[in-house]
Amino acid sequence: MKILIVEDEVKTGDYLRQGLTEAGFVVDLVRDGMDGMHLALAELYDLVVLDVMLPNLDGWQVLQAIRRAGKDMPVIFLTARDQVGDRVKGLELGADDYLIKPFSFSELLARVRTLLRRGKTKEPDTLTAADLEMQLLKRRVSRSGKRIELTAKEFALLELLLRRQGEVLPRSLIASLVWDMNFDSDTNVIDVAVRRLRAKIDDDFTPKLIRTVRGMGYVLEVPEPE
Ligand code: CA
Repeated sequence: MKILIVEDEVKTGDYLRQGLTEAGFVVDLVRDGMDGMHLALAELYDLVVLDVMLPNLDGWQVLQAIRRAGKDMPVIFLTARDQVGDRVKGLELGADDYLIKPFSFSELLARVRTLLRRGKTKEPDTLTAADLEMQLLKRRVSRSGKRIELTAKEFALLELLLRRQGEVLPRSLIASLVWDMNFDSDTNVIDVAVRRLRAKIDDDFTPKLIRTVRGMGYVLEVPEPE
């Protein structure tokens, strides 16, 4: 199993390389985003450990390049910032997991092993519910084969609802994951956005997929036939 580490902090990089090598992996270590991107695209790795703050190209750019090239190996990113925004961004860009610095090596190793075990059962690129289809990489949404144009926020909102189909999502959760804001902020924003999204994906179609659960939040699910 071959792992690429992209980490510019010398101590962290060396420590990770040594630990993963001792754990039986073949490890390449680079300290610069550009080198990381080139190696990730040119070589075959089973997994990438990617720091976010890097010289030349940051971790987000490296991650985007990897996914745009259609490479689907698991990527764990390392972030120093304990921010929901960073985590959501990384996962949205196609990372599989993240660790917040400082982390213990045993924690990293456990995540690495879990991701490698999960292997090729990667999630599909298309999310569906009834005749609603969302292509994640192409960022296309259609219902009954009819293309639907969504704004970036509407897309993120629908993606969240589709990924957690059947689960009632409280407004506070939607606010933090899609808007990166706290519940104290104006939650009317969420109601308005859901209304707009419904107008686009539900109004002209049956069955209706997005449902309001009074006092709780929103859920997307395919209703049982009556
Ligand atoms: Ca760094």
